[in-house]
Amino acid sequence: MFANLSDRLTSTFRNLRGKGRLTEADIDGTIREIRRALLDADVAVSVVKTFTGNVRERALGVEVSGALNPGEQVVKIVNEELIAILGGESRQLRHAKHGPTVIMLAGLQGAGKTTLAGKLAHHLKEQGHTPLLVAADLQRPNAVNQLQVVGERAGVPVFAPEPGVTREGERERGNPVKVAKKGLKEAEQRQHSVVIVDTAGRLGVDAELMKQAADIRKAIEPDEVLFVIDAMIGQDAVATATAFQQGVDFTGVVLTKLDGDTRGGAALSVREVTGRPIMFASTGEKLTDFEVFHPDRMAGRILDMGDVLTLIEQAEKAFDQDEAARMAEKVSKGEDFTFTDFLSQMQQLKNMGSMKKMLGMLPGMGAMRDQIENFDERELVRTEAIIQSMTPLERDNPKLLNGSRRARIARGSGMTVADINSLVKRFEQAQQMMRAINANGGNMPQLPGQG
Ligand code: GDP
Repeated sequence: MFANLSDRLTSTFRNLRGKGRLTEADIDGTIREIRRALLDADVAVSVVKTFTGNVRERALGVEVSGALNPGEQVVKIVNEELIAILGGESRQLRHAKHGPTVIMLAGLQGAGKTTLAGKLAHHLKEQGHTPLLVAADLQRPNAVNQLQVVGERAGVPVFAPEPGVTREGERERGNPVKVAKKGLKEAEQRQHSVVIVDTAGRLGVDAELMKQAADIRKAIEPDEVLFVIDAMIGQDAVATATAFQQGVDFTGVVLTKLDGDTRGGAALSVREVTGRPIMFASTGEKLTDFEVFHPDRMAGRILDMGDVLTLIEQAEKAFDQDEAARMAEKVSKGEDFTFTDFLSQMQQLKNMGSMKKMLGMLPGMGAMRDQIENFDERELVRTEAIIQSMTPLERDNPKLLNGSRRARIARGSGMTVADINSLVKRFEQAQQMMRAINANGGNMPQLPGQG
């Protein structure tokens, strides 16, 4: 999903890298490329216009900041504007104050409503709800059956009309409005906390379908009407969403088939065009291929950047400019790195927040999830305790740390002498590294085994 759009946008930003200043021409060039990338991803023209207009205006007003270069600032702006068109904050389901929460699903046939009904029921069940699925899609011959299969898989009961037979011997389709109402009554009687009503779809938008959905809505007064839309339908997404908004109206959107190799324009258009939040995403055929939709995470995925921007923002906040200048001067004068410097750097690092969370925000970190989980935050606290048990003289002159001083520090910090020895050893390695950087004209030396 979004692979192509992602590649296009990231390569656009690559061209800005290393520019000390952005001219209006640089910005216009960038905007042009963003516009093309979005249009090729099938994002609605009106949305592209708003988006690029906002990015351009903000990029032109960019101030030079200490921590981000102009290229990074443009990425930051694009990210923020993406989050905005995706809806800003994620919205939770509204639950009824009394009786069961009623959720109605609407959308075209094949959008993935029935599949979604099962996923949503499963998700709510995991949260401690007791959902009931109601099969009010009496249009598609197999729909009721399909919902029953889905419900069984999710471990959630399904309310379905008994298939009747008309006087002429034909299979009676039944009245979906009545079925929905009966389902709701059943849920009240059996004290289900949520009812999910699956309704009929058609291959295209038509008046009869809209009227039926609107009638069901009127009859059951749902707390949420979720419009389910296939993310693969491209430019048609806007017309379909608008038709459903006018015909039935809905309170939230569910995007399905986000796992497909699609251009993703629907995802980026539907919220901006309808003003309704995207609440869930469906990402496959399995029950668990379902997620609560978070605009910021989706933007992060589109820009292929993990959550680096949050990381940058936190670094910006934690970054002590004076301290950085002091360190740079020290290194340039060839002065030795001391425990005092080490402590100050560690404290800045701690200002940025949990190491685990920080590591998790880096792109490509998904594969390293286990190592991140095992990272022990207390290690930083222990190191800090040891350094704080040193006298200022010792911190600045680590060579003074003989056996008896180490024993005293161990007692003072509640650690063992072996802990102190190991820290001093690691510190000496860091010190050597700083010397090597210095000898190398301020550049990182090659580590053994690298390159
Ligand atoms: P409905 O007509 O709206 O009820 O749609 P269905 O739930 O029957 O789904 C139509 C087809 O899309 C089925 O083959 C589903 O297995 C498939 N489908 C639904 N959601 C997803 C999804 O998120 N990803 C993929 N790849 N397929 C999906």
